[in-house]
Amino acid sequence: MRKPLIAGNWKMHNNLAETIELLNGLKRELLDFDGVDILACPTYTVLSDAKDILLDSNIKLGAQDLYWEEKGAFTGEISAAMIKDVGCEFVIIGHSERRKYFQETNDSVNKKLNAALTQELTPIVCVGETLAEREEDKTTEVIKDQLAQGLKDVTAENILKLVIAYEPVWAIGTGKTATPQQAQQIHKFIRDWLKDTYDFDTAEQVRILYGGSVKPSNIKDLMKEPDVDGGLVGGASLEVVSFSEIVKGSI
Ligand code: PEP
Repeated sequence: MRKPLIAGNWKMHNNLAETIELLNGLKRELLDFDGVDILACPTYTVLSDAKDILLDSNIKLGAQDLYWEEKGAFTGEISAAMIKDVGCEFVIIGHSERRKYFQETNDSVNKKLNAALTQELTPIVCVGETLAEREEDKTTEVIKDQLAQGLKDVTAENILKLVIAYEPVWAIGTGKTATPQQAQQIHKFIRDWLKDTYDFDTAEQVRILYGGSVKPSNIKDLMKEPDVDGGLVGGASLEVVSFSEIVKGSI
């Protein structure tokens, strides 16, 4: 049985005061709510304060990226150990915005997720096709490459320690959600790939999140699909009410 996970990706939004307000609101709304893993991924500069606020709560903390080297002369970068040290349990890897604006590749995704695993962080590895790729009927080919290269040499033991997020790029921040059927089709494709690459039991345990304009109004239908195990939520996770409704609607 896979426990649902609802993760908020707060991107480059919210200063410290805004983060504190949002976290306290979520704590109030989601107090004692279990059955779903709840995750907040604020920006780096507020992680330490967020950790303190979340200490006595059911909301976990994650970062939005990391750099794969352990330490050294890499100005501006943040290591897996630093993210762990500040209290994160999760880290998003290979978000399409990183791929689009910061030249992230499947190879860098692989290095980053290995660095995360070394520090016992749970990587949320993002895959997804662009609109052009979908229109050219290349969706599964693209996803397969992202999985094969991004998860290259990840052992069966380690695949159980990560989460995969299917995020069609055309649905992120656009208000266009994949239909539950479109999401399920690709989630099943991902799970089948896991079955072929690892084995049935292993594949059945890996959580696959959907991301792309998840809202209170569509979470229930998405979660009805057998291979949708939760959501990676951008815009709608920035408000206490909508994020809480998505969490509550996911079970
Ligand atoms: C995201 O950034 O991962 C995302 C899915 O954003 P949104 O929910 O705003 O589409």
